[in-house]
Amino acid sequence: MSPTPLADRAFEKGVPRAAARRGLPPFGEEHEELRASVRRFVANELAPPAQRWEDERWFPNEVFHKLAAVGYLGLKYPEEYGGQGGDHLHDAVLVEELPRAGSAGLGAGVGAHIGIATPPVWKFGTEDQKRRFLEPAIRGERIAALGITEPDAGSDVAGIRTRARRVDGGYVVNGSKTFITNGVRADFVVTAVKTTDEGGHQGLSFLILEKGMEGFAVSRKLEKMGWHASDTAELAFQDVFVPEENLLGEENRGFYLIMANFQWERLLMALASVGGMEATLERTIEFARERRAFGRPIAKHQAIRHKIADMAVRLESGRAVTYNALRLFHEGHDAVREVTMAKLKTQRDCFEVADIALQIHGGAGYMKEYGIERAARDARLGPIGGGTDEIMKEILGKSFGL
Ligand SMILES: Cc1cc2nc3c(=O)[nH]c(=O)nc-3n(C[C@H](O)[C@H](O)[C@H](O)COP(=O)(O)OP(=O)(O)OC[C@H]3O[C@@H](n4cnc5c(N)ncnc54)[C@H](O)[C@@H]3O)c2cc1C
Repeated sequence: MSPTPLADRAFEKGVPRAAARRGLPPFGEEHEELRASVRRFVANELAPPAQRWEDERWFPNEVFHKLAAVGYLGLKYPEEYGGQGGDHLHDAVLVEELPRAGSAGLGAGVGAHIGIATPPVWKFGTEDQKRRFLEPAIRGERIAALGITEPDAGSDVAGIRTRARRVDGGYVVNGSKTFITNGVRADFVVTAVKTTDEGGHQGLSFLILEKGMEGFAVSRKLEKMGWHASDTAELAFQDVFVPEENLLGEENRGFYLIMANFQWERLLMALASVGGMEATLERTIEFARERRAFGRPIAKHQAIRHKIADMAVRLESGRAVTYNALRLFHEGHDAVREVTMAKLKTQRDCFEVADIALQIHGGAGYMKEYGIERAARDARLGPIGGGTDEIMKEILGKSFGL
């Protein structure tokens, strides 16, 4: 399958370049240059071994080293910590392009590191924490995970039970986490804990737990429907002593950290789905041109063209709502409603787009080598992870004062 972008194919067919998508706001020329570099990197370094990593249920840590070498792990972080001094838009480009590797598990592992686990350290961490955790994370030397979900607390974050009791010089942590991306390989886990006995949001705090701390164990590497190349773990904490210098942000104010992080996480998921839908659409158009049935390419059958039109509308409407939310977020507006809409709109559509692509591919779509069955399996997590569709609708409903 040729990865030729739609815009270039259109140009080859005589459509003027001006009609092609070029740097839609909030992205400008600089971002499109970065996009071209990332696209090359993904095509050369990540796409070729992606299937092997999927089969092995693991991508090597070397990926983090390679990404760090070209500066991609620190695009939005200040230069004083080894970052590139860019902003969220640069990260957005990377995350939109990663799905072209054809492995959402790979994207999830990288995304957990740059998108959900290290941002709280940057935003709420002390100078010492930034030196100990953010800097080596940007260099790809220490891998990060975010631990919020527990066996009995998913959507209901306030139900977290992992308990951190104050002791001399720090905390003693008991409890467990589940479904933690990068959890098996992580060198540190930004972990949500309860620091009071009262229920609800009030007593939540964050501690950074480090690999090697006594009593901190990876209890299980989980087997999954999709995201095969990423490691997803169950973690167990038994009397883990965590020094007080590993408290991230203020004690009992962890709920604000979670809320701040969610907006960016959901935007990243929307962006990844936009990138995923685009890659699937391109492959499917290519396939429909080549595959013949009843004496002509299947693309010449109206029913197939209509399916492709449906895919394209889902992609472009998803892109519009996502870029709008990204623009508002980037400009510092309260974009909770728009981000929630973008997450809701794109996740189910990404799965639907993969499902339509599967239908267009026929039997070939069911076969591993075309990557379409993987796209469908991988996309199914979207309406569940990072806040389910039901929770997104609840947030939206409440945003109208209902
Ligand atoms: C592969 C994978 C990777 C993940 N990575 C991470 C990670 O790195 N870090 C992390 O902390 N978490 C991670 N998660 C967890 C993920 O964010 C949760 O799965 C998600 O928040 C949903 O929680 P749950 O699975 O416990 O579902 P539940 O909360 O048990 O929900 C089950 C169903 O009930 C519905 N429901 C629940 N409450 C309501 C309500 N009030 N109204 C209507 N419907 C409701 C839900 O929408 C859902 O359909 C990951 C999950 C997976 C599968």
